[in-house]
Amino acid sequence: MAGGINSESAIYVAAMNPLIDNFQRPITYMRLSVTDRCDLRCAYCMPERMTFLPKAEILTLEELRALALAFIARGVRKIRLTGGEPLVRRDMIELVRALGRELGSGLDELTLTTNGMRLAEFAPALVDAGVRRVNVSLDTRDRALFTKLARRDGLSNVLAGIAAAKAVGLEVKLNTVALKGLNESELPSLIEWAHGEGHAITLIEVMPLGEVDGDRFDHYLPLSAVRADLEARWTLTPIAHRSGGPARYVEVAETGGRLGLITPLTNNFCDGCNRVRVTATGQLYLCLGGEANVDLRAALRAGDARALNSALDRSMRIKPERHAFTIDRPGAAPALARHMSMTGG
Ligand code: SAM
Ligand code: SF4
Repeated sequence: MAGGINSESAIYVAAMNPLIDNFQRPITYMRLSVTDRCDLRCAYCMPERMTFLPKAEILTLEELRALALAFIARGVRKIRLTGGEPLVRRDMIELVRALGRELGSGLDELTLTTNGMRLAEFAPALVDAGVRRVNVSLDTRDRALFTKLARRDGLSNVLAGIAAAKAVGLEVKLNTVALKGLNESELPSLIEWAHGEGHAITLIEVMPLGEVDGDRFDHYLPLSAVRADLEARWTLTPIAHRSGGPARYVEVAETGGRLGLITPLTNNFCDGCNRVRVTATGQLYLCLGGEANVDLRAALRAGDARALNSALDRSMRIKPERHAFTIDRPGAAPALARHMSMTGG
């Protein structure tokens, strides 16, 4: 059957066991990349002349929907749509609407990670479809630095997107990659601003994923150093809040807001991993920091629910216990050839 798995097959899938990996971790969270394309070119993420995949390789809307339903039937309760930039995909809102209809019947949360460039346009439709929270990436509020980092003059669009999301009642969490010598000195004021606007903010260490034009080592900033700097200014109190993911959270007494710290390089966070990632071509990656993957597209395109489920079962046997990447020396090759824009972070 062209275009994915029919509803009868989906019922068959529903009878299957929940996804639990070899380390007894239930997989309840799927990050689904809907495109590898993007309207920015963040220097730490991809080269200026990035090679994007041919459209024929990308899953169709119906295939993405069928895939998401198969995961929901196997126990996934949260789906984050990502990319590349999810909002550059033309039928993105149709997908959000289709998946939004699953909320309350298996799916607890549907959300997305976006660079915010088109968020002002889409925020109302996202809310209508059932989205309640979005993650927006914002590395700086300085226009010149934004243009240097993203290689596009987009700061005003992103800030308008964040404001529009807030205005329609979406909870906005900001993601900021900490970059030595770039946004390093701005981090306290960025955190202060975010908290003042009512947004949580999470800092991320740059990860060695895919070739970029420069050397990421030049701007790698361990969050242990950032935390020490912030602790010299503010009172940071660890809080129990967990997203089931890699972030550890603190409350900043002086700003009254929540700050997350994602430290893939200085601190391994894999014990409670509950997530898997699927690329826009239907490759299921079991770990952001590893190559282990299983192809789901062949089964999807054949409309074969049994083969799709076998692939999911197989994947649980190869999900690694933990990742092991480092940025430890200048000039080193990326730990993985795959860019973050393939698996959406
Ligand atoms: N385009 C969307 C965005 O920027 O939010 C979604 C995809 S993007 C790949 C998801 C997140 O990955 C962003 O917050 C981005 O800053 C982060 N990211 C990309 N490349 C990274 C890298 N090499 N190391 C750490 N974070 C990275
Ligand atoms: Fe695009 Fe997101 Fe990568 Fe920036 S981080 S280039 S916005 S995919």
